[in-house]
Amino acid sequence: MAHTVPDISLNDGNTIPQLGFGVYQIGPKDTAEAVSRALEIGYRHIDTAEMYGNEAEVGEAIRACGLDRGEVFVTSKLNNGFHRPEDARKAFESTLSALKMDHIDLFLIHWPLPTRYDGDFVSTWKALEEFQRDGRARSIGVSNFQVPHLERLAAEADVVPAVNQIEVHPYLTNEQVRAYGDAHNILTEAWSPIAQGKVLDDPTIVDIAEQVGRTPAQVVLRWHVQRGDIVFPKSTTPKRIEENFRIFDFTLDDTAMERISGLDKGETGRTGPNPDVFDYIPA
Ligand code: NAD
Repeated sequence: MAHTVPDISLNDGNTIPQLGFGVYQIGPKDTAEAVSRALEIGYRHIDTAEMYGNEAEVGEAIRACGLDRGEVFVTSKLNNGFHRPEDARKAFESTLSALKMDHIDLFLIHWPLPTRYDGDFVSTWKALEEFQRDGRARSIGVSNFQVPHLERLAAEADVVPAVNQIEVHPYLTNEQVRAYGDAHNILTEAWSPIAQGKVLDDPTIVDIAEQVGRTPAQVVLRWHVQRGDIVFPKSTTPKRIEENFRIFDFTLDDTAMERISGLDKGETGRTGPNPDVFDYIPA
């Protein structure tokens, strides 16, 4: 089947669809409609977070779509304000109750916040290990963890994160963090995979898109999946939601792959904050 999304194995034996739908910056009023559209098109993986303020509407769309709960992979993330284990337990319960689900497929620490909570993200991680042990989180992982943060978990925790969700796109290829993941069986999830649209008019991307007869967004998303990363582009435009789904019926050759990887600008290519210093806690 030309449009089948591959399932990838996680280090805990579960699987995750390589392509999903992200709902960051989709207001609660628009979320149910966008997620419903994505599910109709064939997406079976939704990426939300407590801090996005739209978990309830994600749950609503999934309940309304007629698919069994087990057919849709749902990820959410811990609010930065709730890293202390007792707070994390309450926050996780409120995520499940907002989604109206008895379990979640993947739960992540959203940011490491190394300058907060006395730099202690290990206790937070141990709370997530509890959620996995009691079956309410099928898989657990982290987001925005840099190599030293991952090394610290490796030294002090029991469970290796199933994924690390980090900023990755052609202007920030984030090779060092990806390589640590490869070496330690932690899958990389690439957030802002099209750099919120900023890479789409890059002349190299446009040139490759013309050569392969695809759109710039499809070319960039295809580059990610050929590198083995998981992606969940966001859009509220039905045509784009569909376009972003059609990336499994063509391939990029090695030259195209290398040209895209060559666009890396390192740190200056970041569109989001640097996880080493990011310390935002919602009011
Ligand atoms: P993205 O790279 O997916 O870009 C989204 C924007 O690109 C849209 O708002 C739209 O303007 C444009 N766009 C989408 N499809 C297009 C197309 N086919 N043609 C032209 N323009 C198009 O950015 P994102 O939303 O920041 O990232 C995707 C998802 O990653 C989020 O929704 C969220 O789930 C996740 N995320 C996680 C973190 C984290 O800290 N863990 C941070 C940011 C995003």
